[in-house]
Amino acid sequence: MEGISAPQKGNGQLFQKKEKWYFSFVISFELQNDILEKTEKSIGVDRGLKYIAVAGDKETGKYVHFSGKHIGHIRRKFSRLRRKIQKTKNTKALKRFEDKEQRIIHYWNHLIAKRIVQFAKQQGVSIIKIEDLSDIRSMKKYWKRSDRNVNSWAFYDLELKLTYKAQLAELEVQKVNPFKTSQECTNCGKTVKKNRRGSLYKCSCGYKKNADVNASFVISTRPSIEEKETAA
Ligand SMILES: [Zn+2]
Repeated sequence: MEGISAPQKGNGQLFQKKEKWYFSFVISFELQNDILEKTEKSIGVDRGLKYIAVAGDKETGKYVHFSGKHIGHIRRKFSRLRRKIQKTKNTKALKRFEDKEQRIIHYWNHLIAKRIVQFAKQQGVSIIKIEDLSDIRSMKKYWKRSDRNVNSWAFYDLELKLTYKAQLAELEVQKVNPFKTSQECTNCGKTVKKNRRGSLYKCSCGYKKNADVNASFVISTRPSIEEKETAA
């Protein structure tokens, strides 16, 4: 019996309940959650209108973006149509239009979510970070009034599809604070509004990047909102 320690008292318990015998015991193990979380890598996803989504990995500098010239074209066309139909107050026509628009958005979002998950896998990360856009006030900057509903719906739909597909691929989607992600420099951390001019982000530290790609890198390094709440 050398090398094998004798069973310790109190490790298990045999008891009888309603003419059945049970054996209970305790298993304890330690999860090194804090260590794991710090080494887990993430990509960031920036959602917008010009680019529907940009997924970026700050560590490798790689990114994928979904602009698709025809998607932008269709969006503008739909936006014009929507305003036109809204003016006529023809609710039936508006409903038909919205159904068609939703089917198209479903299809895009399905493809985009699939590609983002694929990108995350290629980069070997386990977390996909997105902005927490549940506060509608933070979204106002993104679009015209007439398009607000459909755009917030499209953003949310992409989030749902991304979360679902990420789970299937055993990846985690985490939400981060969206505050000024497009104004922050991912290189030096400074937040300067005028650094973003159109589609270019240019900082006094010398960093220059496509503005949406920079935002996706910023998002990838922000702490998850849930993490922050547990720490508080
Ligand atoms: Zn900078």
